[in-house]
Formats: sequence, structure tokens, C-alpha cells
Amino acid sequence: MNQELILKNINGFEFEELVADIFRKKGFKNVVVTPRTNDGGKDIIMDEVSPSGEIIKAVVECKHHKTGIGRPVVQKLHSAVSTLEYSGKKKGYIVSSSTFTDTAVDYVEKVNKQSNNLVLELIDGKKLKEIACDLGVNLKNGVIEAISNKSVSYSSESFIKTNTLESNFNNVNNINKDQVSVEGLKTTFHPIYYINYNIDSQCATSVGVIHEESGNEQLIIDGRTGNELKNELENFLLNDINNEKEITNGSCLQDKLDFQKNENELKNQAISEIINSRTKNVTYKGKNNVTYNKKCTPRPKDITIHDCRSLYYPEWTLNIKAKQKNYIVSFLESAGDFITLRNDTKVCQICNHKIEKNRWYCTYCGSIICKKHLKVTRLKKARICTNCSITKSFFGAKKYFESNEELETFNNYYASLPLYKKMWENTYLVFAIVFIIIIGLYFLFLN
Ligand SMILES: [Zn+2]
Ligand SMILES: [Zn+2]
Repeated sequence: MNQELILKNINGFEFEELVADIFRKKGFKNVVVTPRTNDGGKDIIMDEVSPSGEIIKAVVECKHHKTGIGRPVVQKLHSAVSTLEYSGKKKGYIVSSSTFTDTAVDYVEKVNKQSNNLVLELIDGKKLKEIACDLGVNLKNGVIEAISNKSVSYSSESFIKTNTLESNFNNVNNINKDQVSVEGLKTTFHPIYYINYNIDSQCATSVGVIHEESGNEQLIIDGRTGNELKNELENFLLNDINNEKEITNGSCLQDKLDFQKNENELKNQAISEIINSRTKNVTYKGKNNVTYNKKCTPRPKDITIHDCRSLYYPEWTLNIKAKQKNYIVSFLESAGDFITLRNDTKVCQICNHKIEKNRWYCTYCGSIICKKHLKVTRLKKARICTNCSITKSFFGAKKYFESNEELETFNNYYASLPLYKKMWENTYLVFAIVFIIIIGLYFLFLN
């Protein structure tokens, strides 16, 4: 990455310059930032060269706001583009570091339906970030002061690929590994704030100390919401929290989710979480022998922070392809330990039921299926899923075939059989008949 820029640290004018630079890098011509006063909804004027070489006159309005951009801004741009003196095609852009409201989006859609000669386009913070990333600029949007490039320890991409394939496909019956490969791999880093603290708090009344809170604890706050992480996830990450790893691989599109709070806010959030969890209702007897209730709340100064830092934890998402089937497997990692979020390979691709053991593979379509949806073809004795097979009843028993040719061959063979042999296609029926004969003979002898 050539450049890292934090949007929050630049003002509206600098944002206009940044947007102009981005358009220049994208190949727009004569990109001019208009004088700051009275621009009438035209922050930037430029020429866009269409694929056919036609020059489109474009006007850009920049909005460096934290809140969603509404319809009035779009209407103002619309009239600025309309009144622009140019005989050819015209285009209006609104580039925002935040988002657009639904009414703004609706308005643009309506305008664009009316004419090809005047087109409006909205670029929100997320899209701007993507465009900038392609140009080698890492734009960080939102309120982010907590910045970190550290993650809890995690494995290499190649290990994740091999390990995911092995652990999910090795014990599938009838598997053909040549058909299975990792098509896509994505890492999403989730921001967290770690705090290690000591608490030493006493709650006293006229009868003396009635309650104490003390000890050394750790806590993890979600860097986006500011809430403490759920127990299972928190313990999972705390296991090896001191073993950090620099985030090196990938680009800014690797999805390092932004912190939505600054470090101070996160620290305060953590302290209030600690105070809440350590606040206890205590019952005690007064000197007059009357029972009282007191809420014992630790004070911030009872808490000593030993260590606190911003970091990330990785979420892996793999797209595994097996013939026509795509399997998504996603999980969180902390130092080679995993929490599964989604695992399509443990679900029957036909009935959607969860399957842990006894998973079967259909080499015709790549489906992992439960035993119920696995069949064996009548002639070739190949394993096949119920979706891929062709069925036909013979002597009341359903038979499975991989193709019409196999069915045809069997049809001809079956037609040539004498009746008593045809019956053997339905073994249940044969056994039932034999059983009835035996019972019949039994009664005959009895009488
Ligand atoms: Zn099934
Ligand atoms: Zn199949």
C-alpha cells in the first residue's frame, strides 16, 4: 500500500482534493477543483472519456459528512448538471465519505431512467474506499482512532486451505479428491480491544466492610459495538491473546473492519463493563439488627489497568468447489484453534439435514449427501445421489440408473428374463411370497 489516509483527519476542502486526485488517477481529463466560494453544487468539473472516445462533461459534488446524504443534495446536483452549458452528454457524481438515504437513491434511479444524456451516479464511502484501494490508496473511513496492525496469532493461507480440505473431505465416503478444490479464500479481521486489569474494591457501611471485589481479570470489547464479547468467543481469544501476529498478507480489500470507536472510548466502555459486572446487591444486618440492602458499586479508581491494546482476530471464509457444487466453510481462528461459523459440507445437499458421520459423496454432481439420498445404480453398481439418478420401477421395486443408456440396456435385459427371474428384482416381494407359502403349508399340515 502506497498511502494510508484517515478520512476523519481531513477537512471538507482536503476531501475535495482527494476526490479530484482519485478521478485523475482513474483517467479522467481536465479535473478541476472549482473555487471554494459559491460553487453552486459543483465542487469538481472534469471530462470523462467514454469507452468509445466520446467526451462526457462531468460535475462532482463532494460530501464529507458523517450522516447519510439525502435527496435535496441530489436535486441540487441535478439542477447544476442540467444548467451546465454543454451540447454533448453530461454526468453528475456525488462522492460521499458516508452513505446515501433511500430517497436519494430513488431520485437518482428516476433521473437516469428519463434520459441517456444526463446521468447521475452516487459513490458512497464504501465504494470510494474500493476505488481508492485499486489505485493504491488505503482510505480508512469512519471514526477511527484506534488503529492496529496486529492480530491474534493465525495460520498461513496455504495451511488453512489444506487443513480445511482435509478435515472436511477426508472422511467422506466415496470421495473423489480430484474433483475438490479451494476456489476462493477470504480473511476478515474483526477489531477488538483487550484490557487486563486488577480490581481492589471494598464496600463499607457503619458496621464495617460488607463486600469485597478483588483479583486480576481480562476483558475483550468489540471494536465496532463497544460491547463485551460473548463468553465463548472471549475465552477462545483470551487463550492465546499475548501471542500476536502482524497482519501482513493481502491488500486493503482483505477486509480489515474499521474500529468504530477511538481507544479512549473503548477503554471507558471496558471500565463501565467491569463496574457493571462487579456491582452486587448485598444484604447485611445493621447495628440495630435490622436487615438492609446495599448496592455495592466499585469506583473507577479501584481498577488498575496493566495492559490494554487494540488488535484483530481473523475470520476465514473458503469457497470450496466440487463439480457443480460450492461449499462455504467459515470459521474464526485464534492460534490454530477454530470456531466454526458455517460448514456446508456437514449438511446433506439434498435434504439439508445436518450430517456428522456417514457422509457420502456423489461423483456425478459433487454433492455431499446423507445415507438416505445415496443410491447404487442397477447395472454399474456406482454410488449416485437421488438428484443425479434416473429411476424406474421393476416388479414394484424402484431401480436407479446413471443415464438413459444404462436404463435402456437394463430394460432390454429385463425383457428377456423369464417371470421367476424378473421377480427377483423385488426381493422383498419374493421373501413375502415364500413366507406366505410356508405359513400356508404349516396350516395345511396342522389340519
Ligand atoms: Zn439427505
Ligand atoms: Zn449427484
